[in-house]
Amino acid sequence: MNGFITKALHTRARVKDANGALRTPIYENAAFEFDTAEDIDDVSIGKSIGHVYTRSSNPTVENFELSVKNLTNSLGVIALGSGMAAIATTILSLVKAGDSVITTKYLFGHTLAFFQNTLPSLGVNVKFVDILDEKEVEKACDKDVKLIFFESISNPQLQVADIEKLSKLSHSYGIPLVVDTTATPFYMFEAKKFGVDIEVLSSTKFISGGGTSVGGLIIEYGSFDWKKTPNLKPNYDKAGHFAFLHKARKEIFQGFGAVLSPHNAYLQTLGLETMALRIDRACENTLSLAEWLEGKKEIKSVNYPSLKSSQFYDISKKQFKYAGSILTIELEDKTAAYRFMNRLKIIRRATNLHDNKSLIVSPYFVIYPFNSHEEKMALNITTGLMRLSVGIENIEDLKEDIEQALGV
Ligand SMILES: *Cc1c(COP(=O)(O)O)cnc(C)c1O
Repeated sequence: MNGFITKALHTRARVKDANGALRTPIYENAAFEFDTAEDIDDVSIGKSIGHVYTRSSNPTVENFELSVKNLTNSLGVIALGSGMAAIATTILSLVKAGDSVITTKYLFGHTLAFFQNTLPSLGVNVKFVDILDEKEVEKACDKDVKLIFFESISNPQLQVADIEKLSKLSHSYGIPLVVDTTATPFYMFEAKKFGVDIEVLSSTKFISGGGTSVGGLIIEYGSFDWKKTPNLKPNYDKAGHFAFLHKARKEIFQGFGAVLSPHNAYLQTLGLETMALRIDRACENTLSLAEWLEGKKEIKSVNYPSLKSSQFYDISKKQFKYAGSILTIELEDKTAAYRFMNRLKIIRRATNLHDNKSLIVSPYFVIYPFNSHEEKMALNITTGLMRLSVGIENIEDLKEDIEQALGV
């Protein structure tokens, strides 16, 4: 069983359902009961496997995690309440006050705020670099750096770094590489092959399938040797190779209560089954739209990494099955962009990504409300820029909608 869709459909739950349900039901309960007091002890100390309390684990959530683990051939998977919970849990599992991290400013708005505000307030030194410039990244590497973090395709600039090169560099300094792959989930990017140690993503996006629910995933590939990581020493002593997952799950995830609800785990398991079909369709639509938009004189610029005109054409082709389903277009200014967005009839004005429906938003005004004008200009986020997350509609309808919205 090697095909992605086959695996997505046929991963078996760890325990067969008592009533033979063909789909793992929603276990919408907080606690689990045991026949004897000794049985509950055994599960609590890890001597036998089971569920005690839904903040720690739950059969519906476990089934979702198992499906992702099977699809990624990873060491372990943690499903959490949101993509931000996955990012924060991963980083807080690796750093302590006095440590440093390396990242870029080309990040999703709330991730940027976490690096700019939250981590420094906890005494963590954040080094912002240009991740396209390996020399600059290397200059920032030292023994205090505990991770390098960036997005596989940055949102909304659509910047693509050479992940394999950065992985080799970070590993030569004994630093783990953490990549947010929300734009390119595991159907379209083999993170392990390119040297990613920990993949984090928002399952709210492509996985949920139609923007049904908020969720996040941490996927660890077992490629990093945690033995020499001082922050994980107690975890290494207990769990060996599983040191990171041990700390992330047993300490940070539990301590913050960043749990994915069983209902959302159910929706996301359902989404996982059709993700590959939806990604094929959405990404084919995106390339077709991007090429068509490039020929429109009313549009100042079109950005999509799979366009021949993109500086990231070669590297995205090497790394990803598709360059995602997000493109950006730029009009002259806010007035022109807002006029265009307000005239759209099919494409919706909403901030989500990778919904079945096409969604459009102004990153300048909606995604970065906390950053100054100068900072946004430095991030290439202009007032006329729009981010279009392309859905699975019939392509002719999308083109017709854009055509009429551009018209006089
Ligand atoms: C949406 C998103 C997140 C945050 O995910 P939530 O599920 O909304 O918490 C993180 N990174 C990227 C690239 C995103 O697009």
